Amino acid sequence: MDLKRFIRDIPDFPQKGIVFRDITPLLRNQEAFKEAIDGMCELVSDREFDLVVAPEARGFILGAAMAYKLGKGFVPVRKPGKLPYKTVHEEYQLEYGTEQLHIHEDAIEKGQKVIIVDDVLATGGTAEALIRLVKKLGGEVVSLAFLVELSYLEPRKRLEGYDVKTLIVY
Ligand code: IMP
Repeated sequence: MDLKRFIRDIPDFPQKGIVFRDITPLLRNQEAFKEAIDGMCELVSDREFDLVVAPEARGFILGAAMAYKLGKGFVPVRKPGKLPYKTVHEEYQLEYGTEQLHIHEDAIEKGQKVIIVDDVLATGGTAEALIRLVKKLGGEVVSLAFLVELSYLEPRKRLEGYDVKTLIVY
């Protein structure tokens, strides 16, 4: 199945000059959603790990489905003020602005292996911050899996040395 057919380009969202890749048409199609989750699980099938770590909001949708299918635990990473317990955080640059990401301080045990999951790999800034968060808690990132990679923004330059897997590349 050509999953690109289910990704919609939205020009000038959330800011002028940015083409937003909207994955909601893929999510609402049962075959496309299943193929996306199965495909992303296949991308990490050679890896051993304990947890799926994913950022809100679209990372939750894909990461939770993958964790369920693979029989792993799920760790949410959230914007400031959302997680109820003590957190550690990292700052990062988005394609559009600055943001903070928080994780519960006890979410990952020292030495636990994790994969990071998100919908879109754009500049790689979010992924870098997620890696720093995992490391802060003593975890090890064994792979990063994304539904979509915007290769023209060259995100892999910022993720050298990491196992980066993507299903759909623009
Ligand atoms: P990066 O930090 O520039 O790699 O941006 C990745 C983060 O921003 C991810 O959490 C994405 O959900 C979000 N993002 C950036 N560009 C897009 C897009 O075109 N469509 C959907 N999400 C995007």
